[in-house]
Amino acid sequence: MNQKIRSLTDLAFQAISGERTLCKCCSNLAPLFGRVDFQKSCEEHNGVFLPSSGIMVPYYRCEACGFLFTRFFDHWTDEEFQGHVYNEAYPAVDPEFANVRPTSWAKAITDAFPNHLSEIEALDWGGGTGRLAELLQAHGVRRAETWEPFNLTFAAQPKGDFNLVSCIEVLEHLPDPKAGIRSLVRSLRTEGAVLISTLLQPTNIREIGTAWWYLAPRNGHISLHSAKSLELIFKGQGCHLKTVMPHVHWAWRQVPFYLKNQAEVAKQIQPI
Ligand SMILES: [Zn+2]
Repeated sequence: MNQKIRSLTDLAFQAISGERTLCKCCSNLAPLFGRVDFQKSCEEHNGVFLPSSGIMVPYYRCEACGFLFTRFFDHWTDEEFQGHVYNEAYPAVDPEFANVRPTSWAKAITDAFPNHLSEIEALDWGGGTGRLAELLQAHGVRRAETWEPFNLTFAAQPKGDFNLVSCIEVLEHLPDPKAGIRSLVRSLRTEGAVLISTLLQPTNIREIGTAWWYLAPRNGHISLHSAKSLELIFKGQGCHLKTVMPHVHWAWRQVPFYLKNQAEVAKQIQPI
């Protein structure tokens, strides 16, 4: 039976919206950072503004680790996410989702490890339409699977573990970052790595405030990491983390064969 979804107004009324809360990454105090309209999207970066909803979404920033997040979505059901965020209007606020991003990342991964493709077993975690895994498979990767809770085709967790888990523009969507990363790392072989794309906060985030383009509730951008919070959360799962660009990171427990050694990690990916 389909569950009736609550309206945005009801969800806003029930959301946590005080002056402070506890950090979802390190449990320290996180004061209110600011409030933005629910309709604020990443496309404002490209000059496209949606009409206001009048519903304000509070974001908090941890004093200790710098994690920037909202609790507005904490009690939403999957159906409510699909009704209000990942709906038919979503492609307009994330136009690269369907093709541009999977194509660029498939090229980046296959260009980085041309001699190891037949040994790579990849899971695209939060892989949307399954396009990246499909392209990796077509490029000769031994096995490439998708897990995506909002797509019925890929909603079941693929069996076994993987030596490459990609997580492309996904971490910022997690309402519970600790639980999400715990589940992600469970799919990772001991000798394996996670390729992460999520944009870290700029160093002048306090100055920019909630005007930062990546802070966008309409895109479902709920969890915005600092270098410290991202490292903390992977460390908690026994992983090392290396940031190679502000939006590209590797995490691993034991360096896999295709990354050779830690010093070379940074050189071996040329993403978009
Ligand atoms: Zn924190």
